[in-house]
Amino acid sequence: MTVWIESDLCDGCRRCVRACPYDAIAIEDGKANILERCTNCGACLAECKNRAIQSDAVPKEIPDFSDHEGVWVYAEQRDGVLAKVTLELLGIAQELGQERRQKVSAVLIGDRLENLTHDLIRHGADQVFLAEDPCLQPYRTLAHVKIMEDLINEHKPEILLIGATHIGRDLAPRLSRRVGVGLTADCTALSIDPEEKILLQTRPAFGGNVMATIANRYSRPQMATVRPGVMEARTDEAKAGTIIHCEVQLDEADIKTKVLEMFEEKRKHAPITDSKVIVAGGRGVNGEAGFQMLRTLADLLDGEVAGTRVVAEQGFVPADCQVGQTGKTVRPEIYIACGISGAIQHRAGMMNSRFIIAINKDPDAPIFKVADWGIIGDLHDVVPELVRQLTPAS
Ligand code: FAD
Ligand code: SF4
Repeated sequence: MTVWIESDLCDGCRRCVRACPYDAIAIEDGKANILERCTNCGACLAECKNRAIQSDAVPKEIPDFSDHEGVWVYAEQRDGVLAKVTLELLGIAQELGQERRQKVSAVLIGDRLENLTHDLIRHGADQVFLAEDPCLQPYRTLAHVKIMEDLINEHKPEILLIGATHIGRDLAPRLSRRVGVGLTADCTALSIDPEEKILLQTRPAFGGNVMATIANRYSRPQMATVRPGVMEARTDEAKAGTIIHCEVQLDEADIKTKVLEMFEEKRKHAPITDSKVIVAGGRGVNGEAGFQMLRTLADLLDGEVAGTRVVAEQGFVPADCQVGQTGKTVRPEIYIACGISGAIQHRAGMMNSRFIIAINKDPDAPIFKVADWGIIGDLHDVVPELVRQLTPAS
């Protein structure tokens, strides 16, 4: 593809200069001029109101997707217990379904799971596709991919949402390849474009410095993964729904992997994603003695200790207690941020907490922008004082 300027039509308005991500358009003598570093990406084409920017690319036709309908959620479960993210995804799926006037469906795959269908329905599913067979439990990639692929090809959903968990991150890319569509991973917001009626999938990009909104015009289903804790689950006890039993035709030989043994990793602490109170520390905590103080405060509040990437890398908190873009997303009732600057990558994981209390000696620290209460001061004075006041008199 080549891009060029019809200078007779150009009035030098500069819209294309602002639109070019490569800084490859300059205004010279009142006219736009395409510079050598132009990559022919085409980002400027739609910006020019005068149609002065032209290209020899043949416009891609948007296929007819009128036979695709429905917002689907892959209902992740382990040992017959639904993953929390599944219920959260049903919450946002209802919003998208209302917007598109389409049904919300959950796809539940495993063995002897009918007892979970009611929970999926009361969390928002209008219908549950239930695929049950001993070879589907526990999760194995090829087995679940095959069931999902067959169901997608048969029922043609418009949107498919999957949790960005270990299982979801294993399933989603392989499935997207099988059905020949794109996949937007780790979305933090989903909505429907009011004009084009397509799914707008927002996620952090360029190291979390910008939020990119990605849309898929040319294939269906529109597929996204969403991290646990980002969306909100909703319940409606009176909601009714239908269960569709799916035929499973799978040969053990097609699955290729066997589960020989399963054992649970011994955790020394409760998962921070389930904790109602989190006391989080950053570089300002400055060492093990400081973290011991945070643990005392967390114990008094029946909470857990978490931290920024800096302190997780230094080994003061375990890797699974790192909060943020490359760590966990948490939504506790109370998040106490101690000695944390509040970088965007950290805020991405905690800004949906109900109440945020920040303790920082720098009054300009960005954490104060998202805090409900801010304490400007040295945490080595403030935290012991909190501990003193919270400790019951003996
Ligand atoms: P700093 O930014 O150094 O802040 C320390 C703060 O402590 C300062 O505000 C200071 O004023 C305050 N302080 C110092 N002493 C005291 C004291 N005695 N009392 C009170 N306050 C004090 N970070 C994450 O946390 N999670 C992520 O998932 C994550 N993912 C990332 C992904 C990418 C691609 C990149 C590029 C970065 C990521 N980061 C992540 C790193 C992030 O950009 C920041 O570097 C990090 O969050 C900063 O950690 P911090 O707040 O502990 O340290
Ligand atoms: Fe010229 Fe069109 Fe660019 Fe405006 S947007 S400067 S009219 S080429």
